[in-house]
Amino acid sequence: MSRIDEKLVPIFEDVLRRNAGETEFHQAVEEVLESLGAVVAKHPEYIDNALIERICEPERQIIFRVPWVDDKGQIQINRGFRVQFNSALGPYKGGLRFHPSVNVGIIKFLGFEQTFKNALTGLPIGGGKGGSDFNPRGRSDGEIMRFCQSLMTELYRHLGEYTDVPAGDIGVGAREIGYLFGQYKRLTNRYEAGVLTGKGLIYGGSRARTEATGYGTVYFIDQMMKTRGESLEGKRVVVSGSGNVAIYAIEKVNAFGGKVVACSDSSGFIVDDAGIDLELLKEIKLSRRERISDYPRLRGGGACFSEQGSMWEVPCDVAVPSATQNELNGNDAAALIRNGVMAVGEGANMPCTPEAVRLFQAAGILFGPAKAANAGGVATSALEMQQNASRDSWTFEETEARLELIMRRIHDSCAETAESYGAPGNYVLGANITGFVRVAEAMQAMGVI
Ligand code: GLU
Repeated sequence: MSRIDEKLVPIFEDVLRRNAGETEFHQAVEEVLESLGAVVAKHPEYIDNALIERICEPERQIIFRVPWVDDKGQIQINRGFRVQFNSALGPYKGGLRFHPSVNVGIIKFLGFEQTFKNALTGLPIGGGKGGSDFNPRGRSDGEIMRFCQSLMTELYRHLGEYTDVPAGDIGVGAREIGYLFGQYKRLTNRYEAGVLTGKGLIYGGSRARTEATGYGTVYFIDQMMKTRGESLEGKRVVVSGSGNVAIYAIEKVNAFGGKVVACSDSSGFIVDDAGIDLELLKEIKLSRRERISDYPRLRGGGACFSEQGSMWEVPCDVAVPSATQNELNGNDAAALIRNGVMAVGEGANMPCTPEAVRLFQAAGILFGPAKAANAGGVATSALEMQQNASRDSWTFEETEARLELIMRRIHDSCAETAESYGAPGNYVLGANITGFVRVAEAMQAMGVI
């Protein structure tokens, strides 16, 4: 707690008391509060009018039962969540995560982060997050559909294009969004395309949405590297994960002339010094939905799979943690630093532990925090909402050009804020302050809300 300004300590203590046991949420709040000391010195009214307390408290938290019938005819019960965190800047916006680890603390941390991330995009979207402890692994298509229909049967009453607009996250892709949208449409008898994003192209989705988080993270990294006269050309890159974020981060690294030599899934990681064969990876992970351990056999050559050890020991110039929260700890950061890493961009949400972040910053490594570096996904969701609202559909090139501009602007506004607060190059501080101040100003203008 020592790094939080003393004026903010009582606020953090309140958060701990009110959200007992929700460690990921505590971690996310602590990191933002650590950045706000200089802000409250400038704006004492944020303390006087309890603005920070209000921002740390979700506007609404919904927890519900999701009953469904599996292929054996047995009834299964899961828990569904939607945390509508903050709507000062627009309708709640944020993904749904289906993973057995999901609980209210994880959804709350994600919703809190989402609020500032969405503010950083400069687009009119508030923050929210949801999901379920449902484990999609090994479930048939029919089971996935019935689960999605049951979840939406409760969730729909809390949604709307002007109210709350979910999208995907871990375990929720185009297939799940399709089933969710179909059920929303049946329940409401409205073709409200803007109520969900990440939709299929044929029924209101946006081009480049699938690629957006991964592409955006790499644009952010590229922009950070430019500040040191560097580029991704010829660089060795390690990307953890092999889901949507990782796959399209790899694609964009390749486009910038870098070489990705390792990636992972929950079973282990692969190293391929010749550069990951992206088409093969897509085939294994996206088409067949299988484990990454199949890669070396199908690829041949010198590729290898490892179940044990840390992939962050693989020497690289750039690291892109794109799997899940707290996947890269202090030891991993130390290994990366020892091996000469120059830039780290968070593709996942909060993948680096606080200790890892401190080590990167102390070593002067370019570090792009998730709420800035991975904002391309949700930014493109907001572009999907724009297309839906105007009943339009843009080309891939047009959409990607907007994404690139948004990412470079996010970088620049974080860098400018960090500079103006006397911490040049500190993107954590820059992102936290920029996002926070945008939300705070809007809330202040609206009175006690
Ligand atoms: N789940 C993504 C994120 O963490 C995207 C959310 C969205 O598009 O609404 O930002």
